[in-house]
Amino acid sequence: MRYADVGELVVQARNGVPRAVARLVSMVENASPALREVAAALAPHTGHAYVVGLTGSPGVGKSTSTNVLIAALREHGRTVGVLAVDPSSPFSGGALLGDRVRMEQHATDPGVFIRSMASRGHLGGLAWGTPQAIRVLDGAGFDVVLVETVGVGQAEVEIASLADTTIVLLAPGMGDGIQAAKAGILEVADVYVVNKADREGAETTVRDLRGALGLAGTYGPDDWHPPIVKTVAARNEGVDDVLAAIDAHRAWLERTDGLHARRRARAAREIEAIAVATLRERIGAVSGSTDLADQVATGKLDPFSAADQLIGSERRTRGGRP
Ligand code: GDP
Repeated sequence: MRYADVGELVVQARNGVPRAVARLVSMVENASPALREVAAALAPHTGHAYVVGLTGSPGVGKSTSTNVLIAALREHGRTVGVLAVDPSSPFSGGALLGDRVRMEQHATDPGVFIRSMASRGHLGGLAWGTPQAIRVLDGAGFDVVLVETVGVGQAEVEIASLADTTIVLLAPGMGDGIQAAKAGILEVADVYVVNKADREGAETTVRDLRGALGLAGTYGPDDWHPPIVKTVAARNEGVDDVLAAIDAHRAWLERTDGLHARRRARAAREIEAIAVATLRERIGAVSGSTDLADQVATGKLDPFSAADQLIGSERRTRGGRP
């Protein structure tokens, strides 16, 4: 299949051609020079998808939950684009095993697109590439974009900054209530799901979590109070409760103008990430060929002045020339 240009690729993606969507995501992943054009072509079509983030420690049931969530959303007539981002994995392009299994299950459904993304490497983690990939799926017309990521380190916080609704998945027997408090996820989750509710200790996990949430602060009458939903993803139990919690959170966001505020903050971070990457690239090209380092190393120049020179914005003294 050949595409005349980026515009045509975007048209194809919007017409539901999975290969076109996949190619656009690859362009993001590879930081293609045509990305600028892609972003411009997509922009008028973005802003419609509802972005749901799903995160949690390895093994809590993220892929299983994603799978049943996709099915439930499809039953409700909504199309779903899934991005599985593994910040610890060097693999890319749908190479993950779990992915293949999932793809097989939804392979014949044009209303579902599933893709793994590598976030490690030159893209600078989730910050740079993931929002652009979300834009691709949004622009391609999916009603819901589900971003699944392994909860390691900063990932929860980053995913929360990308999603309209962030779900943190826990499972019994992992001391997750306490872990949650320690990892700082109490501030980022909009919905908690205690999966594997068929296992012993599920009630303890719920209680621990409730306790940790209670300690974290009090809620005003207009605040969102993150619900705790129990599921058995492996048996497709409780999934409708998760959807109901997402919808309730969305309704709250829309009622309080929080949705626009979140998306504006997201756009601001996105612009900043691109600007920083551009600047870093420019600096990288310059710094190797200047004698600034020599000057700083020999005391002829201070490093702040050198840095100002490097980014080409020599600071004007207050009250000096404009
Ligand atoms: P992920 O690493 O977070 O994506 O977790 P997976 O979805 O791969 O699930 C890890 C393991 O837990 C798999 O063997 C699943 O079959 C199992 N699992 C998932 N959900 C449940 C559940 O609700 N109950 C039980 N008992 N096992 C589950």
